[in-house]
Amino acid sequence: MRMSRYFLPVLKENPAEAQIVSHRLMLRAGMIKQSSAGIYSWLPMGFKVLRKIENIVHEEQARAGHHAMQMPTIQSADLWRESGRYDAYGDEMLRMKDRHGRDMLFTPTAEEMITDIFRAHVGSYKDLPLTMYQIQWKFRDEVRPRFGVMRGREFYMKDGYNFDLTKEDALHAYNRHLVSYLRTYERMGLQAIPMRADSGPIGGDDTHEFLVLAETGESEVFYDSAVTDLTFGDRDIDYDNVAQCAAVMEEFTTKYARTDETHDAGLFAEVPEERRKTARGIEVGQIFYFGTKYSEAMKATVQGPDGKPVPVHMGSHGIGVSRLLGAIIEASHDDKGIIWPEGVTPYHCGIVNLKQGDDEADAACDALYKSITALGLEPLYDDRKERAGGKFATMDLIGLPWRITVGPRGLKNGVVELTSRRTGESEEMTPEAAVQKIAEIYAQH
Ligand code: ATP
Ligand code: MG
Repeated sequence: MRMSRYFLPVLKENPAEAQIVSHRLMLRAGMIKQSSAGIYSWLPMGFKVLRKIENIVHEEQARAGHHAMQMPTIQSADLWRESGRYDAYGDEMLRMKDRHGRDMLFTPTAEEMITDIFRAHVGSYKDLPLTMYQIQWKFRDEVRPRFGVMRGREFYMKDGYNFDLTKEDALHAYNRHLVSYLRTYERMGLQAIPMRADSGPIGGDDTHEFLVLAETGESEVFYDSAVTDLTFGDRDIDYDNVAQCAAVMEEFTTKYARTDETHDAGLFAEVPEERRKTARGIEVGQIFYFGTKYSEAMKATVQGPDGKPVPVHMGSHGIGVSRLLGAIIEASHDDKGIIWPEGVTPYHCGIVNLKQGDDEADAACDALYKSITALGLEPLYDDRKERAGGKFATMDLIGLPWRITVGPRGLKNGVVELTSRRTGESEEMTPEAAVQKIAEIYAQH
């Protein structure tokens, strides 16, 4: 992409309404525009990162054997009356009537809809296990929408639902989700710690939330600092292997890590004092096992091996796709701007032309642009007639992890400069070597 043709409405001033850094930087980097409280338009750069995050979620769900599908945003109240949640959900549910006076609502989550699909089409235990998910816009009329996309009213969420014959099978689905989520967040450059949590209006017994530690997090969390040493890495897990998934589950959830809702001061006191930490966290996902709560209320049964109908065991699993943009920025920025992890960066590298209009510099930038594009990567070329300082400031603000700087002086010696956004370190090398280095970096992501 050439900056001169892009739509990137960067703001020079700090927007007064933004209280936290991620909100401020998303506005300043021209990623989002608020339309009303907690409701945003996603401008090209913000939308690009949203898509990258979404793609990682899709890839990891596919790896775990889960089926992507999509359910409507506007749903009939009737289904929600069956489960009893139409009244129970309260003011967070946005309700409306169609022209015939029928009660409708904008989906805050989709347990009812998926259970209805399931009961219409699945009749036998032989069709299990089954996990389907969607990535879809949700609406919750939050009392206090704030912090930009972190607590929106309209937000983008992955919600998945597993259907199993027995509790044991459903707990495997639970563990499988935990494993897939660990991989998902790490690919985004994030450490998200599974913590024992409270189930809220979804209901159920077993649930973990995934929290990213950040001062601006809305949840208070208590944990054994040993949990921050755990990384999933590139383990090759067979998602059908019950014991393997259970082992990962045990490894990542045995040490003390809880949100304030489930915090137990007595148990916490058993953690060695120097490892006992209290901090703030951003909830980026949650997994639930809730057994037969919905299948019994909505008569979602299958014929068991003995021919008798049994209600299926279910769980639901969510990832805050749009909130993740805020969480990633909270975890990765400095006073100049965003620092995108390679896995989610909107463009793979920036090209800064120090002397636009100079034949040699222009030609060198064009050649770099072509070579990087030929690798299947996307450069963002700042080809504007602006002074170098302004170009650097924009690149630092929008946070591309790598920048190639091209100027007449370097070109005289046959070199360009490759700079890491994270460390600020620069290295001079030939344009070919810079392209090669970019290729190597992204071969790992
Ligand atoms: P919270 O406690 O933050 O209100 P929740 O527990 O009600 O969230 P879930 O039903 O678990 O939310 O939804 C799954 C994921 O969707 C959450 O882990 C979170 O990352 C994201 N999410 C929930 N509410 C919002 C919101 N208002 N804005 C943006 N993302 C949200
Ligand atoms: Mg939650």
